[in-house]
Amino acid sequence: MSTPRRLLARLRDLTARGNAPLGDLVRLVAAELVTEVCSVYITRPGEILELAATEGLRPEAVGTTRLRIGEGIVGLAAATGAPLNLPDAQNHPAFVYRGETGEAPYSSMLAVPVRRAGHTLGVLAVQNRNPRRYDADEVEVLETVAMLLAEMLATAGSTEAQSEGGLVGTLPRRFAASTLAPGIAMGPAVMLGTSHGPRRLLADDPIAEQARLDRAVRAMQAGIDALIEASLPKTGGSQPDAAASREILDAYRLVASGSGWLKRVADAVNSGLSAEAAVHRVAGDLRDRMRRVTDPYLRERLADIEDMVGRLLSALDNRAGPTQPVPGAILLARRLGPAELLDWHSRGIAGVAIEEGSAGGHAAILARALGLPAISGARGLVDAAEEGEHIILDADEGQAFLRPDRDVRHAFDRALAARTARQAGYATLRTAPAVTRDGQRIRLMLNVGLTLELPQLDATGADGIGLFRSEIAMLARGAIADVADQSSVYSRVLDAAGDRPVLFRTLDLGGDKLLPGSPAPEEENPAMGWRSLRVGLDRPALLRRQLRALLLAAGGRNLSVMFPMVATVAEFRAARTLLLAEAARIRPEPAKLSVGAMLEVPALLWQLPAFLRETDFVSVGTNDLMQFLFAADRGTPALAHRYDLLSPPVLDLLADLAARCAEAGVELSVCGEHAARPLEAMTLLGLGIPSLSMPSSAVLPMKALLATLHLADFRQMLSAIRRNSSGAASVREAIAAWAREHDVAV
Ligand code: PEP
Ligand code: MG
Repeated sequence: MSTPRRLLARLRDLTARGNAPLGDLVRLVAAELVTEVCSVYITRPGEILELAATEGLRPEAVGTTRLRIGEGIVGLAAATGAPLNLPDAQNHPAFVYRGETGEAPYSSMLAVPVRRAGHTLGVLAVQNRNPRRYDADEVEVLETVAMLLAEMLATAGSTEAQSEGGLVGTLPRRFAASTLAPGIAMGPAVMLGTSHGPRRLLADDPIAEQARLDRAVRAMQAGIDALIEASLPKTGGSQPDAAASREILDAYRLVASGSGWLKRVADAVNSGLSAEAAVHRVAGDLRDRMRRVTDPYLRERLADIEDMVGRLLSALDNRAGPTQPVPGAILLARRLGPAELLDWHSRGIAGVAIEEGSAGGHAAILARALGLPAISGARGLVDAAEEGEHIILDADEGQAFLRPDRDVRHAFDRALAARTARQAGYATLRTAPAVTRDGQRIRLMLNVGLTLELPQLDATGADGIGLFRSEIAMLARGAIADVADQSSVYSRVLDAAGDRPVLFRTLDLGGDKLLPGSPAPEEENPAMGWRSLRVGLDRPALLRRQLRALLLAAGGRNLSVMFPMVATVAEFRAARTLLLAEAARIRPEPAKLSVGAMLEVPALLWQLPAFLRETDFVSVGTNDLMQFLFAADRGTPALAHRYDLLSPPVLDLLADLAARCAEAGVELSVCGEHAARPLEAMTLLGLGIPSLSMPSSAVLPMKALLATLHLADFRQMLSAIRRNSSGAASVREAIAAWAREHDVAV
């Protein structure tokens, strides 16, 4: 019998009559792994780790030797949540010597944290005299024992984490987060996932257990196929468009059939764990790895795997996956995959809080498309909350309140009622044109990334699509689509838009928007690196394929193509030349072909005479323009409010641009996030920019705002404010005061 299997079999005997004494456990591990020392440290109140049992160190150190979390090798393993495998532990910078342990002779050390449901309950460590690095199997075995130990400690209820949880668990808490999809929702928490350990840790018969796992894997894969098929007939209303969901789910299915993580589960079952325990083990590893991974797309792939972990556990439990309705509940998840979000959405959840998820991730894209309020980054929320506890999810402000007290609840009840009433009022604006109080017609367009957002064109009565972010669908499916697939997406967009214009932006990949598998260049400043049009011009085959797909999709209709991140007129010319070369070969040619550019790199502002002679339209990407103008990374939360669009330099720049475009007869719009914000939007209009493009959720509120705005009066006031604001960091307050005094619905 292999060492892990024999060790687990003996541990099963040891624990058969209830919790094993820790002394027996450390003796058994030391004997089986052939280590001279095996010790268990347990977390005590005050972030202290106390030696609770040892084989090999001096017995009198038990109950005496204490280390703070972060102190010594043991404390470091607890603090980082990751194993430390050191051939020469005593020369590690974190090593601290405790004379009472008698550990001077031992060179090598492997310390593994004992974790459960996000808490570190202790550390399990082995030591040897010889300087040696423990091999991967030994690390794996010790981690498995640590998992068993975590269950024993949790059942014994002897941990700091639990006793603290009893106290802290009754108090209201606020969690800061970031917005993935706006909105407010309140309701009982439902928990996704695997935070509670398996009921049975060890298998009686590993071969039978393997067969059980195989059956569950097959059931899980069949369930995913059924889910993808079931999403096809659903159309209309708030249900996502089937084809677009397929884009995401197909990528996800690949992960479901991926063998890497399933093989690790199978190996763990083979070593003697129950199938559930094996799944938990692998899931725990994934979470630990996730904490260290910074690449956003790799993190999303791991999120997909975690989604599948939940499905596999359901299949092992013979459950068909989540089916019970949970109307109005707030879903809490460490990570969330796209299929899981669709499931929970169909069960009636009102909002989602994901601890780790990026705005460009699959779940975030779907949440926005489904209109489901969602936040991410509320660290510790999943561990702090219990199923059924009341949660307020304020995705507008990027925060969540757990067990809110009465006053907070009442305040949000009022805010939610006002929001609901406002939204009911907005619905009547669907067919109304976007007109200001003094009768000026404004063009309101949509920013769209997936075909499932297309029904919003009619739902909002928008004037068209001012920004189609073509890379989003590709990021969702995890690969660049071929010409036929791209063309079918673009054609659906044009079908939905009908007579309304669509500005298709060519691929804006690179920076943080990396496709899996594409080599990420090592760049100090990816936002200013090899991205966007630069990639397209250096890899013209890629750009030409997309241009061909756009021309084929147009099939004789109007086509507007917009190039992102244009820094020089020469780049714009080069891109346009590629487009015209493709257009010369494709029939039928578009009824009208318009070529334009995003203005998001400041250098272009000093090339306006040449640029405006050659471009048909300009769309200002304020997200990137602001970051390059102020040298302030758009992804850094600490800088989010430091520089204001409503400041003299930006207003001067935009006013000048608007005048020059009007003079040259070039259409100008703004499609950055600022265009969706009330004070910014009215200011852009006041500067003479007549077309704004925004997420669909902002369109109806914007129509309501316009109906209360006397634009000619505001324009006069804005000129006065600008004349008197030399050197000011922001003129926001003056604009807000005018809006308040004139009852503008901001
Ligand atoms: C922008 O930069 O303002 C913009 C609209 O493009 P993106 O946010 O996709 O970079
Ligand atoms: Mg941009």
